[in-house]
Formats: sequence, C-alpha cells, structure tokens
Amino acid sequence: MQIDHDALVVGAGGAGLFAALELAKSGVSTGVLTKLYPTRSHTGAAQGGVCAALGNVEEDHWEWHMFDTVKGGDYLVDQDAAEVLAREAVECIIDLEHMGLPFNRTPDGKIDQRRFGGHTRNFGEGPVRRACFAADRTGHMILQTLYQNCIKAGVRFYDEYHVVDLLFEGGDGGDGGRAAGVVGYRIADGELHTFRAKAVLLATGGNGRMFRITSNAHSLTGDGMALVYRHGIPLEDMEFYQFHPTGLYRLGILLSEAARGEGGTLLNRDGERFMSRYAPKLMELAPRDMVSRAIYLEIRDGRGAGPDGDYVYLDVHHLGRQVIEEKLPDITDFARVYLGVEPLKEPVPIVPTAHYAMGGIPTDLRARVVRDERNAVVDGLFAAGEAACVSVHGANRLGTNSLVDLLVFGRRAGREMAAYCRVAEMPAVAADAPAPVRAELDDLRGRPRGESPAVLRTELQATMMANVGVFRTGEMIATAVRDVASLKERYERVRVEDRGSVFNTDLLEARELGYLLDGAEAMAHSALARTESRGAHSREDFPERDDAHWLAHTLAYRGEPGPTLRYKPVTVTRFEPKPRTY
Ligand SMILES: Cc1cc2nc3c(=O)[nH]c(=O)nc-3n(C[C@H](O)[C@H](O)[C@H](O)COP(=O)(O)OP(=O)(O)OC[C@H]3O[C@@H](n4cnc5c(N)ncnc54)[C@H](O)[C@@H]3O)c2cc1C
Repeated sequence: MQIDHDALVVGAGGAGLFAALELAKSGVSTGVLTKLYPTRSHTGAAQGGVCAALGNVEEDHWEWHMFDTVKGGDYLVDQDAAEVLAREAVECIIDLEHMGLPFNRTPDGKIDQRRFGGHTRNFGEGPVRRACFAADRTGHMILQTLYQNCIKAGVRFYDEYHVVDLLFEGGDGGDGGRAAGVVGYRIADGELHTFRAKAVLLATGGNGRMFRITSNAHSLTGDGMALVYRHGIPLEDMEFYQFHPTGLYRLGILLSEAARGEGGTLLNRDGERFMSRYAPKLMELAPRDMVSRAIYLEIRDGRGAGPDGDYVYLDVHHLGRQVIEEKLPDITDFARVYLGVEPLKEPVPIVPTAHYAMGGIPTDLRARVVRDERNAVVDGLFAAGEAACVSVHGANRLGTNSLVDLLVFGRRAGREMAAYCRVAEMPAVAADAPAPVRAELDDLRGRPRGESPAVLRTELQATMMANVGVFRTGEMIATAVRDVASLKERYERVRVEDRGSVFNTDLLEARELGYLLDGAEAMAHSALARTESRGAHSREDFPERDDAHWLAHTLAYRGEPGPTLRYKPVTVTRFEPKPRTY
C-alpha cells in the first residue's frame, strides 16, 4: 500500500513530536512513524532535567549557557549551533509550560531549577541552577505533554511501524538525490508500506545498545543513522560517545546526575570524595567525561569498593527523606528494586554506563541533513535529536542539554519542513519501492541455517565495551575494528528462528543488529583515526588535545572494506579554544 503525507516524521521521542506538532500547527499533513508506541520512546526515561537560562532562582544568561556548552564539548561544538541552543532553550521551556507541562515550582510559583554538571555562572565561576525539572521524571512529562498536544493538533500516528528503508528521487542520498519517503514494516503483520512525502525527518534516537553496560532501552539501535549511512550520507563525530558516571553496578540502569545536582557525593572504598583530585572546583558536578574517567582511575588504582574493587559509591543519604522523596523518587527506587540498597541509609554502588551519542547524522542549523564537508544539503531530508549531530555537544554533552536539543532543533525542524513543504512538489517513487528491502528481509528470514543474532550482539557489546569505552588506545580500538569487521562478515549468515509475519520481533532484532554493526564500524574507525584526546574520546596513547590537527569534525562514509573518513572545520565564533579545567 502507498500512503502520502506532505511531511513524515520517523520517531516519536521528544524531537519527533515537537517537529510533528509544529508541522500540524502549520496545517501540513503529517504522519509520524514509530517502531514503539509513542510514549514508550526513550525520551520518557529521561530523568534529571532540561536546561534553559531562565534565571528563575539565581542570575543566569544564555551566553553563560552557550559558553558552558562549548567548553563542556571540549571546543568541538559548532558555536553558531550552541548559540541557537542556548537562546531558544528559554522560549522552548516557556512553550512547554504553556502546553501544560507540570514542572516543579519555587515557593513563589516559578519553574524551579537545579544544578547539573558543567553548568556554571559567569563563564566558569561555580555551579548555577539552570536545569528545569519535573521531579526525576522530566522526560516522561515532556513526552506526555507533546504527545497530547500532537493528538490535539491532528497529527496522524503510525504506531509500531518499523522504518526499514529511505526513498530518494533523482539519485541516492549521498549523490544529490532528494528525499521521497520511507518504507515502513508494519510490525503487526509484516506488511511493507510505501510512505511518500515531500519532507522526511529522522528522529530515531541513539545507539547505546552496541555496548554491554548501557542506560539505553533495547530499542536504541541507531536505525536512522545506519539508514542514511547505507544511502551514502556520512555519519559525523561517531567516535564521541558519552559514558554517564552513575549507572547501577553491573546493570547500567541510570541514576540521574540530578542526584549530584541536589548534593549527592561520590565516594571510593575509603569513603573519600575522590573528585577533589580531578576537579577541585566543580567536584561531582564536573562534566561527565571527567567524572567517568575519575571513577575508572579510582578503580584502576585499587580504591574501588566491593569484593572485586570494581565500583564506587553514589551517596545521597545526607539529603534527607524530604528531598529524596520530592526530587529523586524514581532513581532511589531503582536502587531499592534492582540492588536491594536503601539510599536513605547507605551509599549506592555505581559504575559508568554507555549513555549518549554525541555524533550522528550531520545537519545544519535548520535541521537539514548535509552530506559533505561543504555542507551540501540533501533536499527534503531532516534530522533532529540524538540521531542528529548539529553539533551542539561536540566531544562531550552536558547533562540536560539533550532534552533541550530535542526541543530547540525538533521545533526548528518542524518549522523548516513546513516551509519546505509549501514550495516543494510531491516526489515520484517507484511502483514497487519496497522491493530492495523486501529482498533483504526475505533473505534474512529464509536462511535454513546460520549464526545466531543474539550471539553476535553479545560479542559486539563485549568488544565495544572493552575497547571503545571510557579509555582507549590505538591497539584496543584496532581490536574493535577487526572484531566488528568479522562480526559484519558473520552477519551475512545470520539466521532468524521465527519465519512468520505476525509480530516477528526475531526478524526485526536481527535487522537492528545490522544497524548496530554499521554504527559500531563508523565509531571504531573514526576513533582509531583521531590521534588525540578530546572530551569523551580519551586516548591513553595520545593524552593531549591537539587543536593544531584535530579541531575538526569527522565524517565517516560507508565503504569497503571500511568507511572513508573526511573532515570538516569546527565553527568558532565567540570562544577561542582554551585548556579545559574545572
Ligand atoms: C535513562 C536516561 C535518562 C536520561 N536523562 C536525561 C536528562 O535528564 N536530561 C537530558 O537532557 N537528557 C537525558 N537523557 C538523554 C535523552 O533522554 C535522549 O538523548 C533523548 O530523549 C533522545 O530523544 P529523541 O527524540 O532523539 O529519541 P527517542 O526518545 O530515543 O525516540 C526515538 C524514536 O524513534 C523511533 N524509532 C527508532 N528507530 C525506528 C525505526 N527504525 N522505525 C520507526 N521508528 C523508529 C522510536 O520508536 C522512538 O519513537 C537520558 C537518557 C536516558 C537513556
């Protein structure tokens, strides 16, 4: 079946929904395809907050927020994008408030704000209260609010449609073609549908499932990133992957930075607040890359806790029952439920957990996908949210800067797409547009014997965790490059058990494994080439940042045997790169 809309949004997280809402409000016929029921998108799991320099509880300015974002990203941030982020954050939060989002309040009724890592007053003087929040369920509230407003505005949802291919007109995406729609696999019955549109937004989220210990939901397999990569469009800055310092020991389930923002501390086996050694000024509220490295170093130097000395503690007990119950209820419950630890009385065992892709689909400030170092635009194709790289996070994202990225650039994408739809013609698509992907899926389903996807995924997660994690060396990354190449080769023979068409999650998980492998390939190759340390990319064999050679964004193009890498300059406007200390 073929379905036509002026605009299609792939993904119903915060980025997709804000764009869809803007589109529908401008009267554009809009369809949202999502492989999950919309309110199950990962945005709903976001806990701690969304930042904007409202200045509600203490003085703050968007320039300070912009500076923190640039410095937090170790100067790989495009500063024009950071300026947009910091300025428009304020309007977006007020927009959400008007839509009915139940933020926590100050006693005089304003939106309350709390501290988060790397957010400072007056260009680095000390922590500032910039994160707006709804207890520790901020993302949940954002997602519900946007979803309700989308329904009200008449957005058409295609729930449980898994997008398996992108369509282009007049050449492939990387060769000057224009976006023409997508192919959606209806999970309920395995039917492939052609969705045709003038404008397509990819808002498919991150790909943390390539790591063994991660805060990411099972669905975060980098589908949008892999699909553009397969159509000749590069992936930007994939080597920068964030490890959040506080995942529950062994499980990786996230305990929000809000715990530290409210005054929680990190302790080693001796009960020492070890961050004083690494970031004397900001302590536990240093940016995530630094705190994660500090935890690894404590463990490596024999100061880890527990029988195997392989974790440290997050301590919140001194905050008292009232703060914990009002501001941190969910995450303290996670500690009780999953580890049997009572945070009101004892510290919680934690380790860094794979959390956030700074890199992704390259876009310009108007959320348009670009395909080379000169920012040539792929007509009709847009990306926003964690799947995209605009780049506001550079080499390391600050806490609460993702939710605001979704809002600011999701909203921009919607407005830009609406303008594009007003002038663009409906593209043409082939009569049987799903044919190539149908052949791939039939092949995958039809193999009589072969490798198990679960085994391959486990091996992928193990090598990425061990070799492309918090600390890296050339040797380690080269091991991952070889492992991923061999896994890709074995993936050609992967076999699914379920041959049916009804809710065939077996088939879709095998397909998603292919996406993870593509993302891992781009990540490992980009990391191997970058012979410096910057933000989350920490090379023990190249411990210094090297602006003379590496103040540049990586663009990884799919190729054989591995990707081809090209580089594009970083936009520097106000803040010259400086050493990064906290
Ligand atoms: C546990 C946790 C806590 C976090 N806390 C915070 C926080 O406090 N503050 C902050 O700023 N950030 C936080 N983050 C990060 C932030 O939540 C995410 O980066 C952000 O929500 C991503 O939103 P998104 O709209 O890009 O995608 P998501 O919300 O991940 O949504 C992706 C959407 O794409 C759809 N999709 C994917 N692939 C396909 C496909 N092939 N076909 C169809 N649909 C597809 C999915 O169905 C889903 O609707 C947190 C992240 C985690 C994991």
